[in-house]
Amino acid sequence: MDKNEFRKRGHELVDWMADYLESKESYPVTPDVEPGDIYAKLPDNAPEEGEEFDRIFADFQRIIMPGMTHWQNPAFFGYFPANNSEPSILAEMLMSTLGAQCMSWITSPAAAELEEKVCDWLREAKGINSNWKGCIHDTASTATLSAILAAREKHSGFQINKSGFTGKEKFRVYSSSHVHSSIDKAVKISGIGEENLVRVDVDENFSMIPEALERAIRHDLAQGLTPLMVISALGTTSSTAVDPIGEITRVCRDYQVWHHIDAAFAGTALLLPEYQTLIHGHDEADSYVFNPHKWMMTNFDCTVMFLKEPEYLVKTFSLTPEYLKTDLDEKVNNYRDWGIPLGRRFRALKLWFVLRSYGLEGLRKKLRHHLHLTKKAESWIRADSRLEILAPVNFNTICFRYVHHDLSTEKLNEINESWMSTANATHKLFFSHTKLNDKYVIRWVIGQTDVEEKHIEAAWVLLKEQLHKTINS
Ligand SMILES: *Cc1c(COP(=O)(O)O)cnc(C)c1O
Repeated sequence: MDKNEFRKRGHELVDWMADYLESKESYPVTPDVEPGDIYAKLPDNAPEEGEEFDRIFADFQRIIMPGMTHWQNPAFFGYFPANNSEPSILAEMLMSTLGAQCMSWITSPAAAELEEKVCDWLREAKGINSNWKGCIHDTASTATLSAILAAREKHSGFQINKSGFTGKEKFRVYSSSHVHSSIDKAVKISGIGEENLVRVDVDENFSMIPEALERAIRHDLAQGLTPLMVISALGTTSSTAVDPIGEITRVCRDYQVWHHIDAAFAGTALLLPEYQTLIHGHDEADSYVFNPHKWMMTNFDCTVMFLKEPEYLVKTFSLTPEYLKTDLDEKVNNYRDWGIPLGRRFRALKLWFVLRSYGLEGLRKKLRHHLHLTKKAESWIRADSRLEILAPVNFNTICFRYVHHDLSTEKLNEINESWMSTANATHKLFFSHTKLNDKYVIRWVIGQTDVEEKHIEAAWVLLKEQLHKTINS
């Protein structure tokens, strides 16, 4: 493709993108495809000769688009959102145009310094201790793994990095029984072993009980095991439950255990001062992670991690071969040393565009609007005597189900599962589910960038129609 064609196709594609964003709600939220459908439509080998752009783009529309899930459709209510926004998309275009590798300060000084600055902005806006420092990762999974590795190395005096496990270490990691699977994964692959992930009991709101945490730590110490880290959740994935951050911080301080706060989804709510009480007492915790790529209108991928003492992270990961050494290394942040990959995308650019384009007040307005819509939907569900809500609605996620006192949990689970599947089968909206105390619940997450009252009203009408069909079939 020559430069002239790039210019022409670029203009065409931006028009296509703008049309898509304007009409995104007219697309089916989920595709109507069977496994293997898309694969079978693609040729067995890559083309030997270059093809015309028109053909490539026609196939994008013919083969790829019908197989896409439309996460940006405002009727996408499943999992957690992965929001984009216009300024974020434009920044992604610039990032790929510059094509910079932002591994070291010297490989793109502006990228390193903008990363430091936007992390400072977010730290201040979220009410996180001003002495902490931030960095950007691809995902919360990677950030949490990095934190576990840093805690492990801090504890071992960097000896495991050097000589490997001696076989004597018996590290233990604690979390509530509701934490995200990325924590199980990180404990597995950091050499700690999934059997050493201790699931601490939760209360009726699915929040970790700090006394139970302390008991578990004391029990392990008495057995000669080594408590290494507690991972608390500010917004669990199932029900957005919030662990008591301040009290957990106190327990961790008393036993000198690293406290990592996983706020992957709900951390965005800390932009609202009224939610910042949730992290009161976090100052002596060690690390905190949240995903602007979920609820903060910033395209996947973009995770921000803050640390009280980033030197442990940096010392865990830094490794400077001769070809990467520079005489500035003492003066600058080389973010390759703050995580696992060497190569890094210029993610700070899209955060900068989003933060400046919305302004903090613009972001707060969006979040408050989503929270207001959630209150509405919650009130409709509460007013319907056939339904119940099974977890506190702490943010914008409602966990609800159909209930009937004559029916067993199994039967109710079947009915609710079938209710959700038939609703999703319309492709007009999308919900996902979880189980709370073995009860199947539908999760309604109201946080897509452009979700409005008409979308939740339409969803409510459709849900009631499908419930009627499900219980009368
Ligand atoms: C989504 C989520 C994660 C994982 O996030 P990734 O960025 O996809 O790795 C971890 N923890 C919680 C609480 C989450 O909601």
